[in-house]
Amino acid sequence: MEILRSVKELREFIASCNGEIGFVPTMGALHEGHLSLIKKCVSENCISIVSTFVNPTQFLPGEDFESYPKKEESDIKMCELSGVNAIFIPNGREMYFENEPKIKAPEKFANILEGKTRPGHFDGVLRVLTKLFNLVRPTRVYMGKKDAQQVLIVQNMVKTMFINTQIIPCEIVRESDGLALSSRNVYLNDEQKCHALRLSRSLMNASNLIKKGELNVSEIKACMLNTLEPLQVDYVAVVDREFNEISKIELGNAIILVAAYVGKTRLIDNLWV
Ligand code: AMP
Repeated sequence: MEILRSVKELREFIASCNGEIGFVPTMGALHEGHLSLIKKCVSENCISIVSTFVNPTQFLPGEDFESYPKKEESDIKMCELSGVNAIFIPNGREMYFENEPKIKAPEKFANILEGKTRPGHFDGVLRVLTKLFNLVRPTRVYMGKKDAQQVLIVQNMVKTMFINTQIIPCEIVRESDGLALSSRNVYLNDEQKCHALRLSRSLMNASNLIKKGELNVSEIKACMLNTLEPLQVDYVAVVDREFNEISKIELGNAIILVAAYVGKTRLIDNLWV
């Protein structure tokens, strides 16, 4: 596996590639969730590339950019053992320039839910992904449904900016107790991990209600909020696959989302129904 630490090295590697390229963009501190994307990528493409870059422009002032977990050695090992062809670990200075065109995520998708609490976050995500897509020129890009709003916004960018790649949404990987894997779970102590289970449990309860035939969103939200008590909830929302808020679940076209704080850690989870 090639370890590429500069844009120049990445460009040279891409120039030497022959065949379809699969790409998994990440911020490193890889866990089983990332690994599921990586394995799918390796199995479906001739060449697989993973990037691990803690992208400063998608963090807001006061967020955890400085303290974001870093596990470079184990990231490299995990990628190598999974059959990845190259890992791109750029340094931040090389990725950004003083004068750049502004990239703005569309208001309709980016000013709600995650974007409402984290204004500018999706602008930063699109900015770094534009750069990475231009460098890697992947046939397929693997992204987790864990970040549902991100998947939709990136799909929208690829479609509307005629970027020649396909976004592949991948299933959420969870601990056996239901907790969605996240690099930020390392911030949680044992007691907080127990509290964090309320997020996945609220989604499970919503799913059970739906299985019983309850499609009314206000009933589903009320049940979820009950399960989430006493956590500080940022939002509970039910949207269609275009991220319009809905009042009645249409099976096969809905996403139930939750964001809540466990201590100072903000966690998100969702369920595609
Ligand atoms: P991150 O390193 O947090 O930026 O995540 C990189 C990619 O991994 C994103 O597409 C995430 O949606 C995806 N991802 C993170 N956690 C999970 C998970 N538990 N299951 C599936 N995909 C995930």
